[in-house]
Formats: sequence, C-alpha cells, structure tokens
Amino acid sequence: MSPFCAQCGVPQPPADQGESFRCSSCGNIHNNGPQLLTLVAVYAEDKLLMIRRGVDPYRGKWAPPGGYVEKGESVEAAGSREVFEETGLLIEPSNLLTHGVISITALNQVHICLMAMLEKATPLRAGAPEALDAQWFSADAYPHDEVWDPFLSISVAAVYHPCRTQRLPLLQQTDNARRVVFTDVGFSHPWEKI
Ligand SMILES: [Zn+2]
Repeated sequence: MSPFCAQCGVPQPPADQGESFRCSSCGNIHNNGPQLLTLVAVYAEDKLLMIRRGVDPYRGKWAPPGGYVEKGESVEAAGSREVFEETGLLIEPSNLLTHGVISITALNQVHICLMAMLEKATPLRAGAPEALDAQWFSADAYPHDEVWDPFLSISVAAVYHPCRTQRLPLLQQTDNARRVVFTDVGFSHPWEKI
C-alpha cells in the first residue's frame, strides 16, 4: 500500500495491507477492495465470439473479450469498449445484459459478466496488443485445447446453451464453487428511464 495519499500527497500512517483507509489530511478514501473487470459473451448465428489473448495471464489462449472498467465508466460502457477494441465489433452498451458475477479473491478481482445475442456474425478485426486474433466459433469448432483456464471446467454444451435456448443463464462463481441458474428469460428487454 502506498504510504502517501494519492490525492493530497500527505504521508499516511501504516495500515494493514489490503485494508481501505481514509486520508487523515484530506479525507480521501483509499479503497483497496477488488478491481472491477467485465467479461463479455457475444453470440451470433449459434457462434461464440472469442479472442486469442495477447497479454498475460493466459497469453495465446482463447477467451471472451473483456477488461478493466475504467474510472467513471459504467460496466456496460466498458464491455462495449473492450469488445470494440479487441474485435472491431460495435455493440451498444444498452444491448449488453448482465448475466454473471465472478469473484477471484486471489487476484483481488470481481468480474461482471455481460452477454449479447446478435443476429449476424459480422467480420472481425483483432485489436493488438490485447487480442492477437478474433474469431466466431461454432460448437463444432470450439477450441477445447486452447481455451483459457477459467473455461476448462465448462462443457461445450453449457457454453452454447444460450444460443440453443435463446435464454439468459445467470452465473455465480466464487473461488471454489459455481452455479448457473437457467432462466426462462430471453434477450430482448427495454430499458426504463430513471
Ligand atoms: Zn489526502
């Protein structure tokens, strides 16, 4: 942990590593809680969008697009941005549905999973350095041996369940357990202005 306040620069008394604290000078709250990331599952024509990762961890493996939610950004905007940066595909943030939360405490990360069901598997443009390649994979062509570790324990049937059923699954995962709630909910829902 930094011994200085990131906002005012005043040295801070030592605190237990990992704990959040309030600056004694300016009151700025230093939050050392988990980093927020998003993972985006995009389906079209019974295919899943994946990128070949260009950065560690799991460099060279196939994974869904995603990345960090930046300062002041909504999860949906981050998901849309990451998909565009890594694959060239434009998805309106409003078309991304929340479908899961994955906590990885070892990495101090929380991933919000988003999902979109598109009509057309349009051409892709991989965006280096994050993505070395970007492809649509049908279930028959799913790259079993080259998917990133978090997908190794997920069956192909489960991966393609949303296309087969046109229903949104809800995923909940912690360090050592996972459950998927299969819903009767489809992919088309209006937003309500608030
Ligand atoms: Zn301060």
